[in-house]
Amino acid sequence: MSAIEQQRGPRLNSQAYILPITVGIALIGILLRLWFLQIVKGEELGQQGLEGRTVSISVPAPRGEIVDRRGLALAGVKSALALMVTPGPIMDKPELVGRLAQICSLDKAEMMDDIKENSYRRFLPFVAKLGITAEQAVAVEEQRAFLPGVFVRPESVRQYPFGPASAHVIGYVGVPNKEDVRRLSEGNHGLPSFVGKVGVERVYDDALMGIAGKDWVEVDSRGRQLRAHNSDPPIPGSKVVLTIDLQLQKVATELMAGRKGAVVALDPRSGEILCMVSGPSFDPNLFARRAPRKQVQAILRSELQPMHDRASRSAYAPGSTFKIATLIGGIQTGTLTPTTTYHCTGGVRLGSRLFRCLGHHGTISYERAMEKSCNVFFAQVGRRAQGEGMAKAAIGLGLGHKTGVDLLGENPGIIPNEKWIKEHERTWYPGDAINMAVGQGYVEATALQMATYIATVASRGKRYRPHLLRSTIPPGIEEKPIRSKPELLCEVELSDDWWDRIHRALTRVVQSGTARSAQISGITVAGKTGSSEHRRGKSSHGWFVAFAPVEHPQIAIAVVLEAGGHGGSVAAPVARGVIEKYLRSRPQEAAR
Ligand SMILES: [Zn+2]
Repeated sequence: MSAIEQQRGPRLNSQAYILPITVGIALIGILLRLWFLQIVKGEELGQQGLEGRTVSISVPAPRGEIVDRRGLALAGVKSALALMVTPGPIMDKPELVGRLAQICSLDKAEMMDDIKENSYRRFLPFVAKLGITAEQAVAVEEQRAFLPGVFVRPESVRQYPFGPASAHVIGYVGVPNKEDVRRLSEGNHGLPSFVGKVGVERVYDDALMGIAGKDWVEVDSRGRQLRAHNSDPPIPGSKVVLTIDLQLQKVATELMAGRKGAVVALDPRSGEILCMVSGPSFDPNLFARRAPRKQVQAILRSELQPMHDRASRSAYAPGSTFKIATLIGGIQTGTLTPTTTYHCTGGVRLGSRLFRCLGHHGTISYERAMEKSCNVFFAQVGRRAQGEGMAKAAIGLGLGHKTGVDLLGENPGIIPNEKWIKEHERTWYPGDAINMAVGQGYVEATALQMATYIATVASRGKRYRPHLLRSTIPPGIEEKPIRSKPELLCEVELSDDWWDRIHRALTRVVQSGTARSAQISGITVAGKTGSSEHRRGKSSHGWFVAFAPVEHPQIAIAVVLEAGGHGGSVAAPVARGVIEKYLRSRPQEAAR
C-alpha cells in the first residue's frame, strides 16, 4: 500500500480548496458548537475542574471522490444537515428520544436501537439522521435545552450516482462501529462520521477519509466558550481513480438483466480491471444516507442475496472453460503433442461409469476437440497428465488461490492438487482426473479468477495481479496522481508455437464451434464456453471466457450465469456486448 502512504506529504496546498467548507461549517455550526460545549461537555469539564482550559473540537474532513478511469464520478459527496446524537446523556431517557423522533419524523423504537448500538461511544456524537429539513433543524434548536447532547450540523453525504451498477466494487460507507473505531484509533484521522464498510470504500478508506481538523477554543469551568484560538483546518480525502470503465460497467449491468452471476473484464497487458459486475445488485445509497432499517433489512434478508459479490466471492465449477488448463497440463507434462489424437464414440467408460460427450466426434486432435468441446478427448488428456499435471497448469493460470485483487474477502476457489486432497482428507479416485479434466468434481473458480485465467492465456503466459486502483490524487492545487503499477505475478512456460496453436484453437471455438454467438464483425474473438453441472435437475451454470482482438489482446473477460443454461447461448452474448463496446469506443490503440 505504498501508494497510499506516499500521499501524506504534499497536502499543504489544500487550504484554498477547503476554505468554503470551513466557512460553511463555521457559519451554520458556531452557535451549535457553543451550545454543545455548554450542555454536553460542560458537565464533564466541570467535574474535572478545568478552568480557562483550551479544548479541541473535531471538524470533519470531506471524503475523497471515487472516479472511473476517464474521471467520471462513481462516488461523490454533497452537503446535508445531519442530526447528531450523543448517546451518553440521552440513552436512558426514552421520553426525550420520543420527543426527538417526533420532531424529525423518525421511528422511536428504531432510534432507541440506534442509540443503544452506539452507546459504546458515550460522549462522541454520531449521525442519527441525514438530510433533515430546515424546519426540523429549527425545531431541534428550539428544543435543545431539553435535548442534551443533540445538535444539528452540516455533513458531507456520500452519493453513488450509478448506484446498483457499481455497488459491489465501490461498496459503501456507514457509521463507524466498534471495530472501525479500534482500526481508526491507530491512525491520525480522528473519528469521521462515516467510514468505508466494504469494497473500494473500505480498502482505500485511509486515503479517502482525509484528516479531521480541529478548532481550539478556551472554555471556562462550565464549558462555556470564552474565546476561539487558532484552528487546524481538515485535510480532505484523496481522490481515488479506478481502472473501471463506467461505460463498460453499465453495459455489463444491462446485459446481465438482473440475472444471478458475474462479469469481470481485464486488460491482459496490465491486470487492470475494466469492469466487474455482480448480479442481482442493490442500491448502496441506502446505506450511505442511513435509510430506515426496514429498507436495509429487506435487502439483507432477500433470498436473491443482492449484497453478495458473486464476482470475487462465489466460486463455481468452471466446466469446459477449464479445458484450456487441461490442455496446457498435457503439454507441460509431455503427454500431449500437436499430433496426439483420441477416438470419441460419444463417451468414455471408467469401470461402471460412462462419461458422456455431447457428440460422436470420431478421431480428433486438440484443435477440433477444443472447437467442439469434446469431453472424451480432454478426459484422455487429463488421465495421462493426471490430477497433479492439470493442477500445476491451473495454478499457474491463477486458479486455486487468491488472485490478490485489492478487495477484501476474495474466495480462493479450489484446485484439488495433492496438498488440497491431503488437507481436506479426500481420496483421489481415477474418475476424479476425468471430472477435473472437464472442470467438474472438486474444481471451483470465481469469475474474477477465470478472467485472470483467460487474460494469462491472452498475454501468452504473463499473469498480472488484477487490480482496481489506477491512482490516488492527494488534495491540492497540483493534482499530481500517484499511479499504481502493473504487477507481474507469474509466467506460464510454453513455447510460442503452442501459444499460437492455443490462440488458433480458441478462435475456432468462436468462428465455427460452440461460441458462434460471440462473433463480432471486424474483430477476431477467441474464447471457450462452459456449462457446469451443480445440482441434479437444475440448469447448468453458463460460462464463457474470451479475449480480443486475438492479434493484440486488449480485453479479456469471464462471464458466469448461475443456473443460466448453456454458456454458448447465455454467457457468450454478454461477453460479446462488453468486448464490442470496449473495442469500438477505443479507436485502434497502439500496443503499450
Ligand atoms: Zn467427443
